Amino acid sequence: MGLPLIIVSSVRIQRVHIDQLDEPLRGFANVALQQQFLIRRIKIVQGDGRLLIYNPSIENQTECLECNGENPLRRRNCQWCNCLLPPEEDRVGLRRGERANRRTEQCHPVDAAFRDHMKAAVLAAYHAAADAGMVEAFVKMDYNSPTVLSVEALHRSDDFEEYILTKPDSRRRTA
Ligand SMILES: [Zn+2]
Repeated sequence: MGLPLIIVSSVRIQRVHIDQLDEPLRGFANVALQQQFLIRRIKIVQGDGRLLIYNPSIENQTECLECNGENPLRRRNCQWCNCLLPPEEDRVGLRRGERANRRTEQCHPVDAAFRDHMKAAVLAAYHAAADAGMVEAFVKMDYNSPTVLSVEALHRSDDFEEYILTKPDSRRRTA
């Protein structure tokens, strides 16, 4: 199986605290693509017996008809004037019972090969941090496969960008 053209070079993992384990959220990943481009706040979530990742997203907004203020679709009352908002379907022009799209992904892989690669890399990094018992970790990935090269504990205040810049990977793609 060929590698995608762009690969995940390192991942910052933040695991959620142990007493929140009955919640599906397991943590967040900040991902560096080829040490050049950062994606922040990918969610790692426990699904039906397996871990899933969600791309960073923002809440979709609609305007209040009374005050023209922007409100997330999930809201029933306007956050600015507190008037009762029309049902979600009416605000985005759907038929009754159709579900409105409450969030829009800010960035996401386009093809299946890169989607699979990113998911494999993020989950490998998450498991490496969990196996090492680290709440927060800087994980370097292999340039030739979505496998872990090294795991280092991080503090919350440590800057991921600085880590990427000051610890350049000597390994380069062989392909
Ligand atoms: Zn309003």
